[in-house]
Amino acid sequence: MNIKKFDSRFQILKIARIVKENSVTKTFVFDYSLGAKPGQFIMLWIPGVDEKPMSVAFDDGKEFWITVCKVGPASEALHKMEVGDKVGIRGPFGTFYTFSKGDHLALVGGGYGAAPMYFSAYEATKKGCKVDFFLGARNKDLLSYTHKILGLDNVKLHISTDDGSAGFKGFITEVLQKVLKEQKIDKVFTCGPERMMVAVGEIAEKAGVKSFMSMEKYMKCGLGVCGQCAIDDTGELVCKKGPVMKFDYLKKLPELGKYHRDAQGKKHYY
Ligand SMILES: Cc1cc2nc3c(=O)[nH]c(=O)nc-3n(C[C@H](O)[C@H](O)[C@H](O)COP(=O)(O)OP(=O)(O)OC[C@H]3O[C@@H](n4cnc5c(N)ncnc54)[C@H](O)[C@@H]3O)c2cc1C
Repeated sequence: MNIKKFDSRFQILKIARIVKENSVTKTFVFDYSLGAKPGQFIMLWIPGVDEKPMSVAFDDGKEFWITVCKVGPASEALHKMEVGDKVGIRGPFGTFYTFSKGDHLALVGGGYGAAPMYFSAYEATKKGCKVDFFLGARNKDLLSYTHKILGLDNVKLHISTDDGSAGFKGFITEVLQKVLKEQKIDKVFTCGPERMMVAVGEIAEKAGVKSFMSMEKYMKCGLGVCGQCAIDDTGELVCKKGPVMKFDYLKKLPELGKYHRDAQGKKHYY
């Protein structure tokens, strides 16, 4: 197979496949490898609309995916695109989740955060890691990636829904807490809504396990030039120091789990 190499600065790519994950989420597949690692992101240019950061949902050296939730103008425009339509890609950028051969990992995904967690599980199990995968959603129709996760060896899937329509009724953090009490876990990775990730970090800390989360701050350039994603009060840039960062560092920041900033820098409390 002739694998198409991405030149790692900017390229216009055709969408090769589109998979509907649930009523609000689609996965877009590109016949290229970015050489990306789990947790890294790309800047996605939707011609005539905007350019937005998106996590790499999968990259096996032959193709890469992004999984996008429809929340506003840019993601809605992308959801209207079809196979063969073109978008611009820059990247991959940022830090990634790291593990050692044979680690026992707990991966916690909420919303489209399931996608980078799946990519982490795929890579980690290739390196002999054992994975407990925690997947949470408001209801069963909003769960995504379940079948893909179940297709991985050495992965135990735990599901929760707020309304009890699938798996445990309640928050996925309650399931995590129970498993961390019963088993020796080496590291916890999480990606999803910020307040969920903070709860994950606190639970892991109480259990004496290091945790790492993907910080989503408003990003414009992804290159460390514009300063939009600077963290209060350290001024460090999430697009360079992150997005994957240690909870030990993040928990000291005044903004963690409390507020985020919009394109103009205005604070919005969660
Ligand atoms: C590192 C990183 C990885 C991300 N990965 C994914 C992903 O895999 N899948 C996915 O669906 N979304 C992801 N996002 C969020 C995604 O970029 C926004 O949801 C998207 O830009 C929304 O744009 P919109 O015009 O559709 O909606 P809007 O109505 O403009 O915004 C909806 C929400 O998205 C946030 N947002 C908007 N623009 C940006 C931006 N430039 N940077 C950060 N947040 C923004 C807003 O603050 C708001 O909370 C990621 C964000 C970051 C920072």
